[in-house]
Amino acid sequence: MYEIRFHGRGGQGAVMAAQTIAEAAVYEGLEAIAFPFFGAERRGAPIMAFARIDDKKISLRTQVYQPDMVVVMEESLIEIEPVADGLKPGGCAVVNSKLSPNQIDLGVKARCATVDATSIALEMLKAPIVNTAILGAMARADDFVSIKAVKEAIASRFGEHLGEEAGRINAQAAQMAYEKVSIGESLAQRPITKRKMWLPTWQEMPPGVALYHEKRGEIEVGPGSSWQTRTGTWRTKTPRYLRDKCVRCARCWFICPDAAIKREADDHIDINYDYCKGCGMCASICPAKAIEMTKGAKL
Ligand code: SF4
Ligand code: SF4
Repeated sequence: MYEIRFHGRGGQGAVMAAQTIAEAAVYEGLEAIAFPFFGAERRGAPIMAFARIDDKKISLRTQVYQPDMVVVMEESLIEIEPVADGLKPGGCAVVNSKLSPNQIDLGVKARCATVDATSIALEMLKAPIVNTAILGAMARADDFVSIKAVKEAIASRFGEHLGEEAGRINAQAAQMAYEKVSIGESLAQRPITKRKMWLPTWQEMPPGVALYHEKRGEIEVGPGSSWQTRTGTWRTKTPRYLRDKCVRCARCWFICPDAAIKREADDHIDINYDYCKGCGMCASICPAKAIEMTKGAKL
């Protein structure tokens, strides 16, 4: 049995990628299943999806703990997720990155394929939806399925959802990635830190589930599950707070999907950049134009 684990962020199309690679395997006459695992279900949050492929009926329904291939759809996930955990000896990794494989530190030495899937997606699809480019890279990284079957599955699945032309362009993105992949060996310098298994305290409960008091006795919403999933590493735009303009209406605090905005004692705000993913909702809703979005991951 060949097992694949996808690590992506909500909105990148990891689930569709898992379904499409399974469909490609079926075109090759194999059996396949695909299924997702969601954590905090919001755009940008780390998610996993899985696929299993075999030449006989598959009855195993657990998550994939010992993959033959791990697929990292967004490079910064390596900083916050143990993406190579359990990778089988002889297994391989496919990473969306501009770096060469021998610059990718997965915490284990493994065959590693890198491809700049984001640039390919932006060029071909005009959007950073990297799943089809990643599928092309997967077909090149290991020979469990052919690029021909992958392109057929993309044309079918994406064509069905988005139209024939979209299916064709997505298949082209896969072909481009297939041709641009670099293959080498990853670094093993970082420790693979498994996620803490915890029963949350009242301070750690996700927003929406619990409100908690801080020392001064006022009610605030904490980053909750984001304590472990620092969505701030994904940011490409950064909100700048213009304190003098702020009318302290709290709308930004209320709308921030990652609870990255904290209210100070005088109702001014403070942005926690470990969790701010740069979505810009705070700037959009601010009636006083007291938050402006700047380009780049830092101010
Ligand atoms: S840009 Fe604003 S709304 Fe979006 S995550 Fe950052 S602080 Fe929250
Ligand atoms: S929405 Fe704008 S004015 Fe209101 S608290 Fe936030 S920054 Fe201040």
